[in-house]
Amino acid sequence: MPETPEQLYLRAAKALRMPAVQEWDTFPFDGEMRPRALQPPGEHEVRRSGEGGVDCKACAAPDSDFLWTTERWRLHSLPRPSGLPVILLLQPRAHYGEPGDLPDAMAAELGTLLARIERAVRSIDGVGRVHVCRWGDGSEHLHWWFMARPARFPQLIGSFAAIWDDVLPATPDSIWRDNLALVIRELNRA
Ligand SMILES: [Zn+2]
Repeated sequence: MPETPEQLYLRAAKALRMPAVQEWDTFPFDGEMRPRALQPPGEHEVRRSGEGGVDCKACAAPDSDFLWTTERWRLHSLPRPSGLPVILLLQPRAHYGEPGDLPDAMAAELGTLLARIERAVRSIDGVGRVHVCRWGDGSEHLHWWFMARPARFPQLIGSFAAIWDDVLPATPDSIWRDNLALVIRELNRA
């Protein structure tokens, strides 16, 4: 039988473990660490922005806010450069929440687009891998992340790349703009 959040809390709150992060090459931080105390579960899930499409920024955004659009999908960058060479987000034009809520035809189209955009981002020189991620706990409007991870830095591999993005200094603006232009060129070639 699945565990309730309350059961999980009772079992885990006093039994948190400290992984050996100091031995992980990919862990971005040094120094003494301990787990933060686990807070008890809330009554409900935390509300996400744009729930039910109400006051949804993604729905309201004009096409001019996006780098690349199709009939059913729109692709945008972060508003300014961050530590990784480029980060892009793909979202459906219409308001869908979970991947499993998509109609089959759109889910199939999404698969093709994930591959196409990953390939385009990977075409940038100096990009070692593209992490394709979906969390969805912040805003409800479905969005997929494409995080370009720099090549040949063993420390930057894996899921901590998302944290390294805030640790590395921002990519210079001109390089970031060139990277975005390269991605668009590749997408339009496909
Ligand atoms: Zn929306």
